[in-house]
Formats: sequence, C-alpha cells, structure tokens
Amino acid sequence: MRVLVVEDEIRMADILKRALGEEGHAVDVVHDGPGGVRMASENPYGAIVLDVMLPGFDGFEVCRRLRAAGILSPVLMLTARDDIGDRVRGLDVGADGYLVKPFSLLELAARLRALARRDDRARPVALVEGDLKLEPVSKRVWRGTAEIELSAKEFCLLELFLRHPGAVLTRSQILEAAWDIAYDGTSNVVDQYVNYLRRKIDTPFGRHDLETVRGSGYRLRHREMP
Ligand code: CA
Repeated sequence: MRVLVVEDEIRMADILKRALGEEGHAVDVVHDGPGGVRMASENPYGAIVLDVMLPGFDGFEVCRRLRAAGILSPVLMLTARDDIGDRVRGLDVGADGYLVKPFSLLELAARLRALARRDDRARPVALVEGDLKLEPVSKRVWRGTAEIELSAKEFCLLELFLRHPGAVLTRSQILEAAWDIAYDGTSNVVDQYVNYLRRKIDTPFGRHDLETVRGSGYRLRHREMP
C-alpha cells in the first residue's frame, strides 16, 4: 500500500522509508506538520506514520486537521515516551494507534499490517479471482495450487487489480496507488510492470486474465460465479 511518513528527524525518516519500502509499500516522507496535512489531503494513503514532535504544528494537530477534513487513512502515531497523556490525546484526535520510541521495525511493520487490516473495509484474509489467490498478510500468491513468486512491486500491483476485479484501471490510477510521489518517470513503468506480472501469473498458465483495454488502461478479467 501507499504510506506517508511524517517525521522531522532525517535519519529516522530514512530508516522508516527503507524499512517500509522493503515491506513492499510505496513510501512518501515529509518533515513537518503542514507538509503532512498537505500530502495526506492530496494522496490516497493506506496508512500514515505520524511523529508527535514536529515543526510547524505537532502530530496531534496534523491528525485533528485530517479527521476534520474527512480524511480517514489509518494513523499510527510515534510518541517519544510512554506518556499516557500523549496516548489519550492521540486517540482523542482520531489516531488509530501509537508506537513508543524506540520501537523495532518488525513491530512497526506488524502494527501497520494490523491497521491496514482493520481499515480497508475489513481486509480479507485472501483475495480470490477465479483460481488466482493472494494473501495480503503472508504476501503469498497462487494460481490454482501453484505458488507464484512475485517482487514487492508486482505483488502490490496484483493486489490492486484483485481489489478491483473487472474494473478498468488507468495508468495514472495505477501509478498513484502503487508508486510514491518521488517517482517522476513516465507511465511506461506501469506497462513494464504489468508485463512482468503477466509473465508470472498468466503466460506460464496459458491465461490472458490481465487485459489491456486499448486507450484506457488495464483490467483483471472477472468471472461471474456460476
Ligand atoms: Ca520529531
């Protein structure tokens, strides 16, 4: 999913970006409160990792403004100490959880998975279309009984298609959902990755489920259940 990190300490922000990127997320980073509000208002984030102590205004204020604006992306707040006052305040302004610094990256990844599961209109245990199956939590994919190895980006793309079976996704929708904002190349990268994905989920099985819709984008073929 796409994740926003709002953290002013550059070293910490870099570590978070790298760790979340390794989990397969597309990560944007901003370093102050106003930037956090702006980015979260302009982009569809699956989760926001929000430090409390920030320049401009603090993380509580960022969260309050987002909720007031109707932006409901799950927010995980990073607090500097296990301060019960901070915790309560975070929940009061609409945060979904908090993590006390210092925390392990494994813990962060697990908390984000839990948040994404809770959000996302009850994130299902598995996404299934025909004999294609993807498990968001274990990050495994199958065609029938054959397990398929995907890169993090391919997985992210397939998950996107499986969440919108039968719908045409434009290149810009795909870019927006699966690449971070620092990506400034052309949408050719989408074509390239769709082709990688086809070579793994379709070609070896003699299928053509990931369809090109000329002039529009791509669609994962949806079969109505008999
Ligand atoms: Ca800070």
